[in-house]
Amino acid sequence: MGQTHSRVIQNIASQAALPLLAGLAYFIVSYATITFTTRGGTVAPVWAANALLLAVILTRPRAQAPAILLAGIIANALSGLPAGNTFSTALLYALGNGLEVAVAAAGLMWRKDGSRAFSDPETVPDVLIWAGLVAPASSAFLGGLAAWLHHAHTLSEAYARWFLADALGLLIFTPIFLALINGDLRRSLAGQGLRRKLEIATLLALTAGAATLAFFSSEPMLLLLVIVPMLLVVLRGGWMSTKIALAIVTFIGGAAMMGGYGSSVLQGSHSVLHLYGIQIFIAMLIVVQVPISAMLATRQATIERMRESEQSLHLLASRSPVLLLAFNLGGICTRVVGTTELLLDRPFDALVGASFPDISEEGQYELIRAHNAALEDVSASHTAEFRTVKLRDAWMEAVFRAHFDESGRCIGTIATVHDVTMRKKQELWLSRTATTDSLTGLLNRAGFHQRLDHALLKAEPGTLSLAVIDIDRFKLINDNSGHQVGDTVLKEIARRISSQVRASDAVGRMGGDEFVVLLATSNWERVQEICGRIVTTVNSEPIILPSGNSLRAAISCGVARYSHGQSAEAFIHEADTALYRAKRGGRNQVVAA
Ligand code: GH3
Ligand code: MG
Repeated sequence: MGQTHSRVIQNIASQAALPLLAGLAYFIVSYATITFTTRGGTVAPVWAANALLLAVILTRPRAQAPAILLAGIIANALSGLPAGNTFSTALLYALGNGLEVAVAAAGLMWRKDGSRAFSDPETVPDVLIWAGLVAPASSAFLGGLAAWLHHAHTLSEAYARWFLADALGLLIFTPIFLALINGDLRRSLAGQGLRRKLEIATLLALTAGAATLAFFSSEPMLLLLVIVPMLLVVLRGGWMSTKIALAIVTFIGGAAMMGGYGSSVLQGSHSVLHLYGIQIFIAMLIVVQVPISAMLATRQATIERMRESEQSLHLLASRSPVLLLAFNLGGICTRVVGTTELLLDRPFDALVGASFPDISEEGQYELIRAHNAALEDVSASHTAEFRTVKLRDAWMEAVFRAHFDESGRCIGTIATVHDVTMRKKQELWLSRTATTDSLTGLLNRAGFHQRLDHALLKAEPGTLSLAVIDIDRFKLINDNSGHQVGDTVLKEIARRISSQVRASDAVGRMGGDEFVVLLATSNWERVQEICGRIVTTVNSEPIILPSGNSLRAAISCGVARYSHGQSAEAFIHEADTALYRAKRGGRNQVVAA
């Protein structure tokens, strides 16, 4: 029970702490402003206390706003009493100020993140409308009424004074209090080097000096002095420095005004200037400098974002094994992103301005074809595989796609290039195993047919011959000595056949104990001689087996010459018929078709 109680008390204390603190701060700022500026005779030239309350509300969750606002109103009413305000006047002031903060906060937090107001340059239009216009214009009804009751002003004069003092107060001091509360000021100081800090401090000191001269001297021309350091702050110092400089100028201006100093321009015969000269001067500074500074800050932020994204893109690209190349319509490389050294063995810059032959002499036609295809068929990607100039073993793949500008006009292609050497090697290995007989290392049936078809395409009659070979009584070898010995015999006979033909001739094992040789020789006698030698070399020497034993094998061979227009099947059949005759004729011999 007691624990629950203390937790409840703790809860209330923590809930109440912030409003109490905000109320106390409001009291101090309000009391100081009243004591040092109004001297009882008029409303303050700049009212900063509302800025403090607004800054606290903007940085807190919305739910806390009413309590903070209430604390501010009470603090405001209390702070007015020592200055001699009657209770009703003090309450009117306080309600006016409360209304002002409520309107500004509601306007700035309405469907937006209030904590970004003032600190984000993009919020400047909203801030000028709500804090600079609507909020002080609304509160001025109540405040002006109070000032009219309390001081010897006309109602319109009291309204105008209140409006100016509060608009300036909110516009100038809310950003400063916000920067103090949310740590922006500390962060922006920490982010600067010593030289930069010195530069900004000098510019701010110059601004303060110029403002002192301008506002405390009676020479009107000196007012122009303020413009120069302020402009330097805007251009060199940045967004935060501009806000600080404005606060400094306002503070000095307010002090000068209260002291009765200043040029005749500010206090001159013209009634409006007489009363509000310094405020109007500062308001003009705000209207001119703040939007410029905000625009510069936004632009700077955009540039920084772009630089960051460019950097991260390059970092990503340099870590990725992909290279992006942009080509114009004429096939000249205009942009490179990624690791050129890794892929193309070229320095980065050398590729900009390069054309396809520069990228790969051997692969240029492939590249040009893919580039042109991408320009023609803009919805699809088109692939080219090529070997680079320097890395002979490396295979690259470039995938081309059409590249468009913002208006949708095709302006060239983008090629994504990456290393496909591993894949190429695998493909090569796969195609080799698909066409190779694993026992003998000769072409298998599929591989031999590929070679035969290819050769027949460009064959002149009489230039191609086909020998079909079959081992004699091979079943007996298998039956007598076992399969393993049979395999050894198959391998040895394959070796002996190959040893009698050129490397360019295709030798294959069609399965079982049947071999084929495709001979690209136009001399028919020579062909028969080669086949005779093959038969002899198999039979002349016994085959030594792993066991140390040996056996003598024999083969029969049928050979045919290719005649024009013959199909592969007919060609093979002709050689097969000759082989059949060789077997029928007693084996271990060659028969020509
Ligand atoms: P012919 O002189 O008429 O050719 O008589 P042959 O005994 O050689 O008869 P055939 O060519 O029809 O028989 C081939 C035999 O080869 C049949 C099969 O047992 C054997 N054989 C087929 N493939 C393999 C193999 O990969 N290894 C081994 N050891 N034997 C095989
Ligand atoms: Mg046989």
